[in-house]
Amino acid sequence: MTRQLTSRFVAGRTLGEGIGVLQKLAAERILATLDHLGENVSSLEDAAASRDSYLSALAQIQAAQLPATVSLKLTQFGLDVSPEACEANVLALAERASAIDSRVEIDMESSDYTDRTLAIVNRIQDRFPGYVRAVIQAYLYRSETDIKMLSARGIPVRLCKGAYREPPSVAFERKPDVDANYVKLMKLLLAEGNYPAIASHDENIVREAERHIREQKIGAERFEFQMLYGIRRDLQRELVSQGFRLRLYVPYGDAWYPYFMRRLAERPANLIFLAKNLVRS
Ligand SMILES: Cc1cc2nc3c(=O)[nH]c(=O)nc-3n(C[C@H](O)[C@H](O)[C@H](O)COP(=O)(O)OP(=O)(O)OC[C@H]3O[C@@H](n4cnc5c(N)ncnc54)[C@H](O)[C@@H]3O)c2cc1C
Repeated sequence: MTRQLTSRFVAGRTLGEGIGVLQKLAAERILATLDHLGENVSSLEDAAASRDSYLSALAQIQAAQLPATVSLKLTQFGLDVSPEACEANVLALAERASAIDSRVEIDMESSDYTDRTLAIVNRIQDRFPGYVRAVIQAYLYRSETDIKMLSARGIPVRLCKGAYREPPSVAFERKPDVDANYVKLMKLLLAEGNYPAIASHDENIVREAERHIREQKIGAERFEFQMLYGIRRDLQRELVSQGFRLRLYVPYGDAWYPYFMRRLAERPANLIFLAKNLVRS
């Protein structure tokens, strides 16, 4: 029953299922970033197991010659247990990613983790320049400063709105304020960033990006759009057919619960979808 419920947002339970989805996407000229679901591990053994699962994912990506990166959360790599071990785990992955010309994308978690996450991203960039991507959340007041720092260091950024519940002391609360900040930061990244990723399903934002890109004559090879697997497939197809680069964030694995709950919370209509499926099953 859970498989049926989650399959709209989650590619499957196993790496094989995740790779299968990546192969289908590649055939449609869609890039991907593979996420082995999991966060907040509480032992070094679990953190090492996360690292190993990602090393296996990179091996499969290489074997199948897929245009894919990997996305991970630092709490899944042991940040709460030992920041040093966490960093060593990510470094091992970045080394592998650089060897096969892939990339490690470090998701951004709640604001408790922002400073620690950016510090590790910076150190990975020192060792493997260009093979790590940071994520910046437009709802945080601090994001413009962070983007300027990351852009000055040549670190690619994924810009998203932000998916965690944050207090008004650190984040905009009203959607119009978050959206306005998103557009402002998107333009900053398109002007000064290194191969930024515009990660949103918001049609207004996508249209504003298209308008700005046309107006500023920004080549389609200088940035990419990113969306989540299973969301706004119509918009995804449209962007690809217009010749834009699109990368889908493809999650797989057993630890689907927090990811699935964040997707449900983002859109009230998803609760109706869930209720209908529950009744059907
Ligand atoms: C590739 C990618 C990576 C991300 N990585 C992170 C990260 O590292 N850290 C983080 O905090 N957040 C991350 N997010 C989530 C992001 O912060 C937002 O919570 C999420 O993308 C919804 O914002 P939106 O820009 O799509 O705009 P919204 O204004 O929320 O949505 C715009 C429209 O998109 C559609 N839509 C949006 N969400 C859903 C949904 N769940 N189900 C169905 N339709 C939906 C609806 O049509 C909606 O009207 C990521 C998002 C993407 C696309």
